[in-house]
Amino acid sequence: MYNWKIIGHKKQLELIEHDIKSNRLAHAYLFTGPSSIGKFSIARMFVNILQCPNNLCRQCPTCLQLQKGSHPDTITLKTEEGSESIKIEQIRDIIAKLNMTKQSKFKIILIKKAERFTPEAANCLLKTLEEPPPHTLIIMTTDNVRELLPTIISRVRLIKFSAYSNRFLKDKMSKLFPETGKETIDQVCSLALGKSGKAIKLLKNADLLASYRTMYTMLCEFLEPGPLYKKFRLVEEVLAENNKVTEFLDVFTHLVRSRLHQGIENKKLTTSERQHFLSLLSLIEDTRQLLKRNINARLALENLALKASL
Ligand SMILES: [Zn+2]
Repeated sequence: MYNWKIIGHKKQLELIEHDIKSNRLAHAYLFTGPSSIGKFSIARMFVNILQCPNNLCRQCPTCLQLQKGSHPDTITLKTEEGSESIKIEQIRDIIAKLNMTKQSKFKIILIKKAERFTPEAANCLLKTLEEPPPHTLIIMTTDNVRELLPTIISRVRLIKFSAYSNRFLKDKMSKLFPETGKETIDQVCSLALGKSGKAIKLLKNADLLASYRTMYTMLCEFLEPGPLYKKFRLVEEVLAENNKVTEFLDVFTHLVRSRLHQGIENKKLTTSERQHFLSLLSLIEDTRQLLKRNINARLALENLALKASL
C-alpha cells in the first residue's frame, strides 16, 4: 500500500499497514530478528508514513526533514560515543522531549538495539510504556529479544522478522547488482547468512569481500586436524583487528554449513562427521551469544579452535 522500498518482509509490512489503516496503532512497537535484515530501515519508513502528510512521498518538507534527521517530533535515541549501553539519563531526556508540545500528528521515539538498556533505563521507560502521553509512539528494534525485560516485551506490539532464504536473497541481489557475476552473488549470499544488509555491504565493498575470502581459506585449515598452534595464530590475528571477530564467525558458519550441505548431497558424510558439523554450528552460535555478553574473546575463540576438527 505504501512505497516502502524494502526488500521482502511482506507479512510484517502488511501487519504494520493494517495497524495504520484500521487506526489501531499500538503506542509501542518492538521489531525483533537477526541483525542486518532491515528492521531499523522499516522502523524509519514507518515513522515517515505516519509523519508525512502524504504518507511517505519522499519530497515534502517533512520527508526531507526526516531524511536529514532534523524532524522536530521524531527523536532517535543515539548511542553515546564509546558507550555500549542505553542509560537512564538518556531515557529521562527523551521522555522530557515527549512531553513537549508537538507540531506534527505524532511524537515518535526511535530506539535501535533496545537490548542495550541498563536495568534502570528499562524501568524508567516502563512507566512511559504503561501510561504514554497521547499521540506518542515508541518504536524499538532489537537483535536479541532475550536480553530485554519481560515487562517491556509485554507492553509492546512485537513484530518478528527473520533472515531471508538463500534463494530469495540471491534473486534480489542479482536484480540489485546486475553487473555482478552469478558466482560472486552465490558466494556473497551464502556468506551473508540470509542478511540483506550484509550482502549489500559485501557486494559494494570489494576489500571487505576479499577479506572474507581470505578468511575462508584460512578457516578451511581450521577444520583440518593440523597443529593447534597454527589455529591459535589465526585466533591471534582475528583478535588483533577490530571487527574481525564477526567476520570470523560469519565465515566459519558459512563454511561449516556448506560442508554439511555438500556432504549430505553427495552422501559422503559419516554419522560422526555430520554430528560434528552440527555441534560445531551450535558452538559457533553459542560463541556469538557469549561474546555479546563481553566474555573473554580469546578464550571463546580458542575453545572453538580446540573443537574445530574431528
Ligand atoms: Zn512527504
